[in-house]
Amino acid sequence: MDSLRRLEEIFAHFPGIGPRQARRFVHYLQGRPTTQVSEIARLINEVKANTTECSQCHRYFIGKESGQKNICAICANADRDQTTLMIVARDSDLESVEKSGAYKGLYFVLGGTVPILDKEPEKKVRLRTLLEYVSKATDINTACVSLNEIILSLNTTPDGDHTANIVRDAIKKILANSVGDSNAPKITILGRGLSTGAELEYADGETIRNALGNRK
Ligand SMILES: [Zn+2]
Repeated sequence: MDSLRRLEEIFAHFPGIGPRQARRFVHYLQGRPTTQVSEIARLINEVKANTTECSQCHRYFIGKESGQKNICAICANADRDQTTLMIVARDSDLESVEKSGAYKGLYFVLGGTVPILDKEPEKKVRLRTLLEYVSKATDINTACVSLNEIILSLNTTPDGDHTANIVRDAIKKILANSVGDSNAPKITILGRGLSTGAELEYADGETIRNALGNRK
């Protein structure tokens, strides 16, 4: 395959980008000055080289924000509410919630959602890693602060609802076996301030604040 087709193919795999837009990206780059295209290539390499995946919440961040190895600034911030964990699908969702200023707890990024007919959710999202996290955070022998609440903040789309069900059922199952129902953190979902079909990433701060306030 020639480099032009290969680049089109790569762009077409970007989130929200189809083959036609991918072709337009390539045409756009072909028309740019060499210096600008070189800068784009350099920046892509630089961002990738400086990106770290947080070993706790699994969001990506640039550099070592906290000074602690592989822990992002949110996870390392002792002032945040360590008793509340919010589960989101993607980094962009986390950023929208952060921007709303309505939430001060911790996060876990699933890395996507599970399509409705998918039989292997573990391959689509970090379900196993999440369950290990929850087990540790609710284990009275190892956790410094025990988890009181787990908030499922997923898009109100069919895939989002499906993922929320899978995650809730899996968490309930492991908690029933470890801490028992009475000591388990409550599991809440965002209220319907977020209308059906809504995507968290595009929700404004006011909507996120309302959805958080109306969680149940
Ligand atoms: Zn983190």
